Amino acid sequence: MKSILLRMGELFLKGENRGMFENVLVSNIRKKLEGLNYKLQRTRGRIMIAEFDEENEIVERLTKVFGLVSLSVAEEVDASPTAISQYVSTIKLSNKTFKVDVNRADKRFPISSMDFAAELGGEILENNPNAIVELYHPEIVIHVDIRNNGKAYIFDKSIKCQGGLPLSTSGKALLLLSGGIDSPVAGYMMAKRGLKLQAIHFYSYPYTSEQAKQKVITLARKLSEYVDDIKLHCISFTKVQEEIHAKCAPEFMITIMRRIMMRVAEIIAKREDAGAIVTGESLGQVASQTMQSMTVTEDALESLPIFRPCIGLDKEDIVKIAKEIDTFETSILPYEDCCTVFLPKNPVIKPKLSKARSEEANLDVDALVQECLAGEEIINIKSY
Ligand code: ATP
Ligand code: MG
Repeated sequence: MKSILLRMGELFLKGENRGMFENVLVSNIRKKLEGLNYKLQRTRGRIMIAEFDEENEIVERLTKVFGLVSLSVAEEVDASPTAISQYVSTIKLSNKTFKVDVNRADKRFPISSMDFAAELGGEILENNPNAIVELYHPEIVIHVDIRNNGKAYIFDKSIKCQGGLPLSTSGKALLLLSGGIDSPVAGYMMAKRGLKLQAIHFYSYPYTSEQAKQKVITLARKLSEYVDDIKLHCISFTKVQEEIHAKCAPEFMITIMRRIMMRVAEIIAKREDAGAIVTGESLGQVASQTMQSMTVTEDALESLPIFRPCIGLDKEDIVKIAKEIDTFETSILPYEDCCTVFLPKNPVIKPKLSKARSEEANLDVDALVQECLAGEEIINIKSY
């Protein structure tokens, strides 16, 4: 019978909190495997999936769970020399180099690990005359893991998972999700550090299309395969942009827009019990992503920090992650983002805070923020 052995990562470093981390991880795994048949077993700090039907689907989903570093699909047999030998003698290796690695957690097992590995190696050679034993750099390592539960697990592959920390173990954050390449990646990176995400998107009908919004929903759905369900807050930004366009110096359009976005985001974040705002900004990538712009943007926030995990990444690095998490192809679809509406010819690259504030004073900011909140639409994105 097959079992899937799961390996946890940094959890081991967490001392006292280990139990809590493990419980959260297990509940995240259950959420991820919703709708599939399986049994989850926990013994002595090990997690295992047994009695499942859809191996590929289960493995695929487990590789997207934060907090797992790797997994192996193993054959489970009774922990007796006969049962293990019997299974090992069915292994086919053709002309590969290999070694057998026996790990005996159950010291009652009658043969020493070294002796048993040699014996099993001999059996494999008998059945695979072209295979070659190679102790230092074998192509295949056959692991035999003899456990205290009366079972042994035999496997030869480890599949890499995400690593990181289980979702929610670091708290909750609100991701500013545009239709671009960077913000989904930023969300992924922070979720990997244990943050549960909600998302907020600003759109500008009729200047931006329905497809532009659909694109963001698709991005959130793809992201949710990693970060589980996402509550997506959609905010109409048309009025704000029209007002800024009418009343403020054009070169401050983006600066003031971003300050108002932050205010709306902060109110929603606090209401949803989120402790930080996440953006996809990367230093120097565009005019609005200079140190000075960021300072002026942050000034609009009352107390929440902004996390910008892409800040030190090159575009190339960001694209690489976007491809890995499969958001890239959607991100490059050519629909307008609200940031491109009323775009001034010469946006200020190093805005002065005093000037931004005085331009902004031409607006009734509180009223605009309230109007954004009044039109809030919530879309619940489900991962599977
Ligand atoms: P992205 O690729 O994420 O769109 P970008 O390089 O296009 O980023 P900007 O458009 O300057 O950069 O936006 C910077 C960040 O501001 C984005 O990463 C995102 O977090 C946030 N943002 C921009 N536009 C929106 C929007 N319409 N709704 C929500 N957040 C937005
Ligand atoms: Mg953008």
